[in-house]
Amino acid sequence: MRSPILDYLDAIIAQTAHVVSGAPADYIPELASADPDRVAVAICTVNGTVYASGDADDLFSIQSMSKPFAYALAIEDRGIDDILDRVGVEPSGEAFNELSLDPETGRPRNPMINAGAIAVHALVDDREAPAVDRLLGLFSDLTQRPIEVDEGLAASELATGDRNLGLAYLLHASGRLARDPASSVEGYVRQCSASVTVRDLALMAATLANGGVQPNTDKKLFSRRTTRHLLSVMASCGMYDAAGDWLTSVGIPAKSGVAGGIIGVLPGQVGVAVFSPRLDQHGNSARGVVMMEKLSEDLGLHLMEPG
Ligand code: GLU
Repeated sequence: MRSPILDYLDAIIAQTAHVVSGAPADYIPELASADPDRVAVAICTVNGTVYASGDADDLFSIQSMSKPFAYALAIEDRGIDDILDRVGVEPSGEAFNELSLDPETGRPRNPMINAGAIAVHALVDDREAPAVDRLLGLFSDLTQRPIEVDEGLAASELATGDRNLGLAYLLHASGRLARDPASSVEGYVRQCSASVTVRDLALMAATLANGGVQPNTDKKLFSRRTTRHLLSVMASCGMYDAAGDWLTSVGIPAKSGVAGGIIGVLPGQVGVAVFSPRLDQHGNSARGVVMMEKLSEDLGLHLMEPG
């Protein structure tokens, strides 16, 4: 029998059809030419059941939604204190690709902006395997299917990636980059170009909701402590410079990406993912934010809901 949850998700898509504001990211040529009308939503319970509607099997790039998972892997490798010495946890209030480090400590302000994410990517590299391979392995464990890089997209971003290269040189000059700038940026861009669907993302988010344990395979990917720390950073820094608006209106830890995806996590309950390529002035999916606001309201997801 068809679940009423699917009817509900269909309704979320229908009720947000009027939101056509914004435009797809255009600083990566391949993203600019993507079909802006694609739309999808998925939720996954902590039991691992995924419900999805819309273009739920369409592939798009994970972009910055990869950052929380790379950060969690770095913490698992080295411990929270070591990572805190290298990357802060303060919201930056700046754009995701701002060319700046914390003037007092020289650290990137947080791991959800590019400076922090490039530093984290370089830390995940180890003797056994390059960072990208480790991350693709992690994404595959999270989604239960082999996740691959969209090489055409990665090449397109690398060809126009001077800003991230500039950031990497800044990090290197401050002794904050574990690898050379060019290979760090190449690896980071390939990390961001991993192809996923909203179903994959809902499972990834549900693993965080489930304390770091993939709900279907029972594989423990992150400790509870790492997961709690990560969700706190997502709550304060996950939505670029709109983190405050997001926390008040939607009220759950989240991360968005410039291809138009957003993941949200209600700890102990559910992982949510939406996709729509047109972005608002903060770089978040415009329709995705409205879909998330509706889901939060209807399903009572807001963490600050009193009682
Ligand atoms: N690859 C993108 C960049 O570094 C990720 C940006 C994003 O999704 O915020 O510019």
